[in-house]
Amino acid sequence: MPRKDLIQTDFLVIGSGIAGLCFALKVCDLGTVAIITKKDQAESNTNYAQGGIAAVLSSEDTFDLHIRDTLKGGLNLNRREAVETVVREGPERIRELISWGVPFSKRRGTADHDILDLGKEGGHSRNRIVHCSDMTGRELEKVLLDRVRECDNITMYEDHLAIDLVTEHHLPGQTPPPGGPIHCWGAYVLDEDSGGVKRFLAPWTLLASGGVGQLYSHTTNPPIATGDGLAMAYRAGAEIANLEFMQFHPTALYEPGKMAFLISEAVRGEGGILKLKDGTPFMKKYDPRADLAPRDVVARAIDHELKKSGDECVTLDVTHLGHDFLVKRFPNIYGQCLSHGIDAARMPIPVVPAAHYMCGGVVTDLNGRTAIRGLLACGEVAHTGVHGANRLASNSLLEALVFAHRAALGAREEDGGASEGTPQVPAWSDEGTFDSEEWIVISHDRAEIQLLMTDYVSIVRSEKRLQRARERIHIILREIDEFYRRSPVRAALIELRNLATVAELVVRCAQMRKESRGLHYTIDYPEQDDEHWLKDTVILSRGAGK
Ligand SMILES: Cc1cc2nc3c(=O)[nH]c(=O)nc-3n(C[C@H](O)[C@H](O)[C@H](O)COP(=O)(O)OP(=O)(O)OC[C@H]3O[C@@H](n4cnc5c(N)ncnc54)[C@H](O)[C@@H]3O)c2cc1C
Repeated sequence: MPRKDLIQTDFLVIGSGIAGLCFALKVCDLGTVAIITKKDQAESNTNYAQGGIAAVLSSEDTFDLHIRDTLKGGLNLNRREAVETVVREGPERIRELISWGVPFSKRRGTADHDILDLGKEGGHSRNRIVHCSDMTGRELEKVLLDRVRECDNITMYEDHLAIDLVTEHHLPGQTPPPGGPIHCWGAYVLDEDSGGVKRFLAPWTLLASGGVGQLYSHTTNPPIATGDGLAMAYRAGAEIANLEFMQFHPTALYEPGKMAFLISEAVRGEGGILKLKDGTPFMKKYDPRADLAPRDVVARAIDHELKKSGDECVTLDVTHLGHDFLVKRFPNIYGQCLSHGIDAARMPIPVVPAAHYMCGGVVTDLNGRTAIRGLLACGEVAHTGVHGANRLASNSLLEALVFAHRAALGAREEDGGASEGTPQVPAWSDEGTFDSEEWIVISHDRAEIQLLMTDYVSIVRSEKRLQRARERIHIILREIDEFYRRSPVRAALIELRNLATVAELVVRCAQMRKESRGLHYTIDYPEQDDEHWLKDTVILSRGAGK
């Protein structure tokens, strides 16, 4: 009789956003695929993407221009090979999405037939953003999930939350071979319905668990973005890099205490103007590209203006674009604003910067391989080197698409660790734990981490603030670790532990970089220092296991 807590599969995919779903679709002809996802299958950063996907698709654009824009945006910290790969292979991936049924928006072309409506966003020198009006992510998720449902080899496990990757650390009497590779054989996973922990074992595991926005008090990311994949990979012994480069989206709807609704960069691309509360435009003071400057420049400019004025928000004025245009081009944004009592055709939209996208992550090669054998990583959790010190708008969905495809190709050629066989992995043990009724600690610590990160580790940093954050996070981490060892696993506790781990890693990366570059700005080293810092901040661990 197969044990109910043991699921053996050929591919384990952690996450059902664009990276996980695309990978699953591309390997499902090779064997069985289990996708685990911690909430509803559509709940992901992907689902909320508005602006679109960047790719060279017009005769007025070239690969060289897209490469140049991306390198310029990333302040030359990008890995050039990764940028070239993502740019050159992008158009093919978009055509594939079209063939799968993604309904990208079109407009009437000169030869009287419909052509893709290519938008323009900050940092891009040409119109190259394919989009489904302003609901690109929702349409993408829908089409990908529909295709996944058609595939008999793929099983979706909703409300299944990965706790830890299974490595040598979990095998009785074993430690990872000194200097040799660590292996990943799957993951321990909490079934949130039953409360039990299952072993999902596979020769290949794909980490596609998305971002870390929940580290901060204001974020555009949904509640799932708690950095679980990063923390798991770190505990397992993977290489982590460049976490100091957290992108803050300059324009989230100002709504204290709520998940911040994003006002897409495309709104500025179409002519939206940032103004102070008294109606004065201010971006020209900070950058010749004014409202189309890259996100970090705009976020810092807003931060500066808010600190100076003491106001709680600035405004984004689109009233001159007219009601009909706004409703057609930005139906979702227009509707969302309206539901908050703001008619964007008649009044400016109040906006603030919010944590949006993590550029660093688990280090991978160009085929999604990590330093751990059998473990691949793609999408926002991965660090391929595409973004450097700052991500250009709409390059992230592209990165996820291209590298999910390449990871799948790689997995077709290698067997992960299948030929070596899967070891006997012990069942999860709750021994020595008890329900302590101190669960209030969880929400309290989570809020404290978010506040610490917002106050000390956000848009403008200093050595003193970083050190203060590190000391406090260290104390919180110790408390959480103790609590974790004493208590039966629950989703909130797993996420809290991961948030604290990632917070510490972000601070460590930020403390390593003694310069200001892209998204990392510190008042103690305000200049960019190419001589010493044209390199990644890398954190290595040999893994801590459970
Ligand atoms: C509001 C918003 C707008 C954006 N707009 C754009 C845009 O226009 N263009 C662009 O290029 N990028 C955009 N981005 C960024 C882009 O959407 C993300 O980088 C991308 O979707 C990440 O895809 P992913 O597959 O890596 O992760 P996600 O789509 O976030 O998926 C992660 C998945 O992992 C699951 N998961 C996480 N932890 C666990 C765990 N422990 N166990 C099991 N499952 C887990 C989640 O439930 C989820 O299913 C936007 C992001 C946001 C938040």
